[in-house]
Amino acid sequence: MFHFSTIQDYHTALQNGQTTCVETVHFYLNAIRQNAHLNAFLTVYEAEALAKAALLDASRKAGEPIQALHGVIVGLKDVICYKDHPVSAASKILANFNAVYNATATQRLLDAGAIIIGRQNCDEFAMGSSNENSAFGAVKNAADITRVPGGSSGGSAVAIQAGLCMISLGSDTGGSVRQPADFCGVIGIKPSYGRISRYGLIAYASSFDQIGIFSASLQDAALVLETIAGEDDFDSTVSLRPVEKYTAAVQTNPEKKYRIAYFKEALNHPALDADIQKQSSAFIQKMIQAGHTVEAVDFSLLNFLVPTYYVLTTAEASSNLSRFDGVRYGHRTKQENIDLTTLYKASRSEGFGDEVKRRILLGTFVLSEGYFDAYFTKAQQVRRLLKNKTDEIFASYDAIISPTVPAPAFKIGEKSNDPIEMFLADIYTVYPNLVGIPAISIPLFTHTNNMPFGLQVMTKAFDELTLFQVSQQMMELK
Ligand code: GLN
Repeated sequence: MFHFSTIQDYHTALQNGQTTCVETVHFYLNAIRQNAHLNAFLTVYEAEALAKAALLDASRKAGEPIQALHGVIVGLKDVICYKDHPVSAASKILANFNAVYNATATQRLLDAGAIIIGRQNCDEFAMGSSNENSAFGAVKNAADITRVPGGSSGGSAVAIQAGLCMISLGSDTGGSVRQPADFCGVIGIKPSYGRISRYGLIAYASSFDQIGIFSASLQDAALVLETIAGEDDFDSTVSLRPVEKYTAAVQTNPEKKYRIAYFKEALNHPALDADIQKQSSAFIQKMIQAGHTVEAVDFSLLNFLVPTYYVLTTAEASSNLSRFDGVRYGHRTKQENIDLTTLYKASRSEGFGDEVKRRILLGTFVLSEGYFDAYFTKAQQVRRLLKNKTDEIFASYDAIISPTVPAPAFKIGEKSNDPIEMFLADIYTVYPNLVGIPAISIPLFTHTNNMPFGLQVMTKAFDELTLFQVSQQMMELK
């Protein structure tokens, strides 16, 4: 019987003849079928996954060397383009749209031998924290199907949680990989802004968006990151810095002691759940006992994070989403004999869901002439202050830790009528996107209500190596 632990073990099993890629694909197709009620996958590429698996098995038997992601079963959030396959950002406005090219991340997965098994449900245009904003219905948390899996990459997180694939790629603009990872008890990493190409990622807020990785182990996240990261002629915001050997970082250096900061205001925040507060604080003590220096630092800007994030991201979204006009592609209204403006309005009103409309309106407002300086410019100034404060902290510390989310997974429907409350729960995750640093949620805890939750680790920009090393040590302390 097939059992998955890490990609490395899977490759050993393949090489020893204990399993095949075809058998593995059958295993996952079956798991996806049996868990259809979770609503994690929107489309499953059954026939082609099996065909690719057969090719990989044949090449292995012919003695060809295996590639880094040979036969690795991957799911893609429905915002990442896979040529000639549907991609809709879980929106009606992109119904029946097929990607015309591969995202760079997709191409690199395929080039490394991965098998893409399907596209995964998410919040519409990656806007949300619960996956309830999908045009294809909510995703359910596999640990308790009455609860949300988090969002916006909820389907991608649940797919790892429930063992429906080995790796999921999601996107993270303000926590959409780390927050569902926290709610589902899996690993979710958002690399530095500019580490992975955004070419072929449907844009939400371009100066925040990053592709992120869900996995069951740190090793696997490291392997996938080192395979898909790095310079790309199709995205001028991608860094030219060489990609380091993250896999080696996870295997070595377990003895190093780190200097770690946490925000005093974050751990004393009134919105923080009491049990998360208690267990996170106890874990800090464990880290200190293990020889690390863990200190509280002042972070008076904490309550500005969420407003700054929502002003800037909605502004960018209102601009990015203007391309969905019912003319060039996507949904077009069936109304006839109407002028062009009415066509735009009707197509967009019919095609977008409520949350997307709310954000386009908000973004248009903060960019409008009379309010631009009061909101947009002001938020940009706060972003600069945050960046300066971050540089100051990393001059003295290797990493910053915080809870990933202030409360564990909530009930489906519980917060749908209160967008502000939903936004406020993003308090810890939006910070790394505002300043461009890498961040990961590692599954360390179980709440008194039996739901999993994680710890967020952050390092300075492009120091994913330290991020993996610190996380590795935290996982061992668990
Ligand atoms: N929950 C956040 C939001 O609704 C994060 C979304 C994201 O990272 N894509 O904007």
